[in-house]
Amino acid sequence: MKNFEPLFRNADPIISDILNKALSEKEVSPEEGSELYQSSGMDFHLVGLVADELRRRRVGNIVTYVVNRNINFTNVCIKQCGFCAFSRDFREEEGYFLPTEEIVRRAKEAHNLGATEVCIQAGLPPDMEADLYEKICRAIKTEIPNIHIHGFSPEEVLYGARRSETSFEDYLKRLKEAGVNTLPGTAAEILDQNLRDKISPGRISVADWIDIIKTAHKIGINTTSTMMFGHMETPMERTQHIAKIREIQKETGGFTEFVPLDFVHSEAPMYKHQLHEGIKQGASGKDVLLTHAIARIMLNKYIDNIQMSWVKEGQKMSQLLLMWGANDFGGTLINESISTSAGSEHGQLLKPKEIKRIVREIGRIPAERNTNYKILKRFDNSKDVDEKLDEIEDVSKFGSYVELIKIDKYKYQNPRKE
Ligand code: SF4
Repeated sequence: MKNFEPLFRNADPIISDILNKALSEKEVSPEEGSELYQSSGMDFHLVGLVADELRRRRVGNIVTYVVNRNINFTNVCIKQCGFCAFSRDFREEEGYFLPTEEIVRRAKEAHNLGATEVCIQAGLPPDMEADLYEKICRAIKTEIPNIHIHGFSPEEVLYGARRSETSFEDYLKRLKEAGVNTLPGTAAEILDQNLRDKISPGRISVADWIDIIKTAHKIGINTTSTMMFGHMETPMERTQHIAKIREIQKETGGFTEFVPLDFVHSEAPMYKHQLHEGIKQGASGKDVLLTHAIARIMLNKYIDNIQMSWVKEGQKMSQLLLMWGANDFGGTLINESISTSAGSEHGQLLKPKEIKRIVREIGRIPAERNTNYKILKRFDNSKDVDEKLDEIEDVSKFGSYVELIKIDKYKYQNPRKE
């Protein structure tokens, strides 16, 4: 075990006490986690060092990634979350809706290129068929039985259950039966009802989010967990959010990872129209580093995998985050729409060979995993053979969000128009 004692001698006593506690594998409270946000100078670097040490203890030097494709099959949504630049009202010209055949075609194309997972999330179209999600899953699994469907956030599960007039549990069982393997733990933002009522009135409540996640875990559907930060929340609201995730994990053990998601502001309605006083342009670089480190420290022993988002942070910041507590690179994505529509400029696809290069540049070992974090291939040396996705020269063939909202054949047909 590394000896941090000499480094702590000149540190702020409050910060060094908390970090010592973390190094002794004791639980760090939301108050203590929030205190770490106040660190500066050498103390700031110590937070990163401790997070990096805990990462090393839990998962070693491997950095994992998954070969996957996002399929956001519609951007039409009945909600108007203040941070969401992806969605369109059903009356708007730019609303699209992919038919099931196109969703399956995209999944097959990705699978043929080595993808093990499709991530399916979308807006909530009005008057949606109650069994639409099940139909999509069945169509995919009929063609590609072994692809992992990581699909439908708690918000979508809530919508599907309401449209079906059934309980969360019954609806989740139906999704499982139709082929859903895991659920994205998105729609969490910050699990604080007052804050949610400001940034996304009408969004799934804290109580329903927790209920759906626990129910999914109970019936054997693992989920991820997320936190959107850098908008209006306080450090304490963040650490209380992380502590809520930790409590759920103690009870169910069903979370596979935790993903801090930095708010992308430029096209987000609540920032563009300055809907709230004091709204920020996302987190600062220092804040992003601290958030990943504090997540690692607070979730130590409960959630081993802290993922950073290359789409939001870019390649170089991602490298830093891997040295500040993160150990997972996320997915190749192929089609990224959510952050791109909000103004992120880091692209929509990272090939496996690029991920491997980024990971090796910081002296770590890349490894491909499946959605449940089983290592599929470890790449210990740099003499890799290109994988199928690496061989695609013209990635524009996959299309983009900006193109998709202009394609006539995918235009959302508004059922409310006579
Ligand atoms: S975040 Fe989801 S629910 Fe909210 S407006 Fe966007 S697509 Fe709709």
